Amino acid sequence: MDLDRKGFESFVESLGHKAFHGRNIMKWIHKHGVTEFDAMSDVSKKLRLQLAQTAEIAIPEIIFEQPASDGTIKWILELNDGQRIETVFIPEGDRATLCVSSQVGCALNCSFCSTAQQGFNRNLTTAEIIGQVWQVTHEMKQPLSNVVMMGMGEPLANFDAVVPAMNLMQDDQAYMLSRHRVTLSTSGIVPAIDKLREVSNTALAVSLHAPNNELRNKLVPINEKYPLEQLIPACKAYLRGEKRRKITWEYVMLDGINDTVKHARELIRLLEGTPSKINLIPFNLFPGTDYKSSPRERIDKFRERLVRSGLVVITRKTRGEDIDAACGQLVGKVRDRSRRQLRGLSR
Ligand code: SAH
Repeated sequence: MDLDRKGFESFVESLGHKAFHGRNIMKWIHKHGVTEFDAMSDVSKKLRLQLAQTAEIAIPEIIFEQPASDGTIKWILELNDGQRIETVFIPEGDRATLCVSSQVGCALNCSFCSTAQQGFNRNLTTAEIIGQVWQVTHEMKQPLSNVVMMGMGEPLANFDAVVPAMNLMQDDQAYMLSRHRVTLSTSGIVPAIDKLREVSNTALAVSLHAPNNELRNKLVPINEKYPLEQLIPACKAYLRGEKRRKITWEYVMLDGINDTVKHARELIRLLEGTPSKINLIPFNLFPGTDYKSSPRERIDKFRERLVRSGLVVITRKTRGEDIDAACGQLVGKVRDRSRRQLRGLSR
């Protein structure tokens, strides 16, 4: 489960077989959902035996399923070390999106995000990331049209495990999703955006949330390290000037914090010249937070101001709120190693 196409190919080559057998095994596991080497009927007996001796197909276990009243389903998966992560399935018309976690907890401490309050334990492996997609597709038999790396964690802080998992999502011998249907969301780790451009052309979403450094430093503290004057050019470069591609900017609407007409005007100026789509996200509550969502009228006004300037703007529907499955509400069960709570950093 830790291998993408290239990984499968070199693995079987190391066992003395031709690379195409590797692609074949990948297809059995990811396209057909097979978990026993012996069930791979067109793989030679010899290779099957070698596989059984040197490898295993290990998939994180679903221990809890929670459906919301709007059709959203949250699954809790337990990892080998007993920690838990959350995966959310969001049906919408003819779309079915899976929101996938990339880390156990998160180290970034965005002040309005519940996952941040949990602290951080470790990166997920490629197996644990693609395992979420495998479980939902094959165990729960929910066909997927889109995957968003928007669950627990900062995917670009776990680059080496996330990229092979996204490769599998897009592989025509695995989950067959086009690059437009796999979205990586980041808080803005600039060097990793540059690196991602070299190896992937997947859709990119960026958690912007503020139109200037002063405010963004408070909401998304990684901004102190990678301020807007670095972030925006890196995102623009990521698109490589390809027509029709856009950066999706996530912007959580916080009452009295970032939601005035002045902020909208600043945002328009900031994004000038960058092909952009803006997702306004009503703030989702969690215990212990002092933030409130902007009222509907203010969100509408903010959106209208952006639309008038020619920007593409969508107000994201809040989904799965009654089961704490909405944006920023995923917590799992994290043994915090960052000792954030002890340091008194949680709000
Ligand atoms: N760490 C990555 C992936 C998480 S995506 C990132 O920051 O992009 C989850 C999205 O939900 C992010 O845009 C995040 O900023 C947003 N979010 C976090 N807490 C939220 C909350 N309480 N209400 C609404 N959106 C929230």
